[in-house]
Amino acid sequence: MSFDVAAIREQFPILKREIDGNPLIYLDNAATTQKPQCVIDALVEYYTTCNSNVHRGAHRLADEATRHFEAARDIVKDFINAPKREEVIWTTGTTEGINIVANGLAALLSAGDEVIATGMEHHANLVTWQQACKASGATLKTVPVLESGELDLDAYQALLSAHTKFVAFPHVSNALGTVNPIKEMTAKAKQFGALVLVDGAQGAAHRKIDVQEIGCDFYAFSGHKIYGPMGIGALWGKESVLAEWPVWRTGGEMISTVTLQDATWNVLPYRFEAGTPNVGDAIAMGEAIRWLSALDREAVEAHEKALLDHATALAEQFEGLTIIGKARDKAGVLSFVMDHGHPADIGFLLDRQGIAVRTGDHCAQPLMARFNVPGTARVSFSIYNTLEEVDALFAALKKVRSMLA
Ligand SMILES: *Cc1c(COP(=O)(O)O)cnc(C)c1O
Repeated sequence: MSFDVAAIREQFPILKREIDGNPLIYLDNAATTQKPQCVIDALVEYYTTCNSNVHRGAHRLADEATRHFEAARDIVKDFINAPKREEVIWTTGTTEGINIVANGLAALLSAGDEVIATGMEHHANLVTWQQACKASGATLKTVPVLESGELDLDAYQALLSAHTKFVAFPHVSNALGTVNPIKEMTAKAKQFGALVLVDGAQGAAHRKIDVQEIGCDFYAFSGHKIYGPMGIGALWGKESVLAEWPVWRTGGEMISTVTLQDATWNVLPYRFEAGTPNVGDAIAMGEAIRWLSALDREAVEAHEKALLDHATALAEQFEGLTIIGKARDKAGVLSFVMDHGHPADIGFLLDRQGIAVRTGDHCAQPLMARFNVPGTARVSFSIYNTLEEVDALFAALKKVRSMLA
């Protein structure tokens, strides 16, 4: 086994923290992952040695900052196997990437057109399309979620038609962990000529991404969910689509020429990057991806699967606990409710024992409604979690249940 979890943990300084005398057990990785020292160092290094505005300085620091910034773009390009670096746009995160696409899409849509999303979306990948449809008179349709937590692919097939202009779905559900068959789903949409966006917020950290193999038009993800900083993310989009699209935000950098009355636009990717970009965080996100890519990704996946399998086995034996979402292919998420106690109470009492989980609707209210729950307690695993932590979680849950019963 080429995976040494102790050596990984050593690289994450925050994991040495204690909460009220208990060692921190961080199981909220679907909300944000912790950062390895090399990412923290990359940020400090940038601000210590070459902080400068990019693309516009005729001096050494500006040159260095630009070089590192654009090198980070190349790291993202390679990470998702994008054909061209011009297709990688820096964003503030998945949410902004999706909004950039919605802005372009709204101009394409008209009454009679249809957009398809799913019943397991994060609000970022649902409300955005609701708004684009409302603004254009298009209709939003959604793929139902089966009891297993998988998408109803027959229903998806039936929704597709010549009216379908755009399809969006998550690579991995943040609330249930379901890994969707994104390649097959994309191929089906492409039979009808629809554009396809994959919300990769939960996919990027857990699965190898190859946008050319997926065949989609857009893939959006966030730095902070793959061991990088908050406030930075990337949107990949096909040049053939993006080059035709209206501009998003206007301002410096995204222009080519400006007169008092008019302006022309810069080339990709700068056309979609108005204003001073988040240089330091982009560089640190590049470092996070470099760090992750240097690991044996199959071993990482196997480790995360072992954690999930162990947790699922313990959950299935746990009295009064119901798992929400039992898809055959899942990535690192165990969502559940218990017979006693609201999810918020469970989260509170776990925190008292040093264990960080997420409770609530996970920005997926329609999905919670689908399962008739007010919310769930969600345990989400990452590279640095251990089987011992899973055992500690269930020992703690036992105490929680006896307190709430
Ligand atoms: C977190 C998340 C988002 C939003 O990402 P931000 O980093 O908050 O912009 C969108 N979709 C899914 C599936 C997510 O998990």
